[in-house]
Amino acid sequence: AILVVGSINVDLLVRVDRHPCPGETVPGEGGELLPGGKGANQAVAAARLGGRVAMLGAVGSDAAAATALSALRDSGAATEQVLALPGPTGQAIVTVAADGENAIIVIPGANARVDGDRVRSCASLIASAGIVVSQGEIPASGIEALAPLVRGRFLLNPAPVIPLPAEVLRAADPLVVNEHEAGLVLAGLGVPAADIPAAPQGMLRALRGQGIRAAVLTLGAQGALVSDGTGTWHVPAARVEAVDTTGAGDAFIGALAVELSRGKDLVEAARLACRVGAAAATSAGAQPSYPRAGDPLPELAG
Ligand code: ADP
Repeated sequence: AILVVGSINVDLLVRVDRHPCPGETVPGEGGELLPGGKGANQAVAAARLGGRVAMLGAVGSDAAAATALSALRDSGAATEQVLALPGPTGQAIVTVAADGENAIIVIPGANARVDGDRVRSCASLIASAGIVVSQGEIPASGIEALAPLVRGRFLLNPAPVIPLPAEVLRAADPLVVNEHEAGLVLAGLGVPAADIPAAPQGMLRALRGQGIRAAVLTLGAQGALVSDGTGTWHVPAARVEAVDTTGAGDAFIGALAVELSRGKDLVEAARLACRVGAAAATSAGAQPSYPRAGDPLPELAG
């Protein structure tokens, strides 16, 4: 089974012509509250594709909690280990300007309580999971406590990149990052800025040089590069009319986890993940755009 240890948020989506400057007020449109959070996104993506998924996380005691959990519950993921704690649910305020550029404020809320103590209190659940998936929207202490408790595969997506000890990053199998995150991870491992490669192939080599045995570098409309310790492979993207790529990376990771839990190798798993990531880019929002098992998926280019 797949265990996701991560964030659960509501996303407040606001469209503006341009982002406000400090002290300025601009009109906005939208205002929908949608279920989000990288952890919940990845859990929903995996469960919709037929994976057996459990979520370890926390929401608040406010009205937003029900919205945050709505798609997770519908997806069939187990939510017994999602605690409802006093205080606010995590929230992301996502402002998208007319040029497509976004500005995001994340308020951790209850996610801040998915810390080392909470993770250690779930040690047996963690040890029994075939795949454990985590991201950077919970405290570093939670991820540090998690890594040594994992007996199966540890799929780590350090997004956002938070300071983590090298041994936690090296426990990842695989580490999944985009190019921006790969650069920050290398910097965090002590690689001098001048030695951080700009090209994806070089980034993967540098990660391997730092003792990270398996890594997946997602490249947006260019697909993904996969390094599994024996070699490096490019998986092309599926060609789609991208409408909104919010949450495409999380859909990719959910699909990757499902395929790995079915015994696929990393390259094969990344091939399905690229198709699911592309599907998620073809309609608005994160979780609402995720495909279900049996839905037609776009084919890989080439
Ligand atoms: P993130 O959003 O985390 O930066 P990416 O933009 O790299 O992640 O997207 C994750 C994956 O989703 C990519 O590896 C790719 O498979 C798929 N994807 C994202 N954007 C597109 C796109 N425009 N066309 C096709 N596939 C896409």
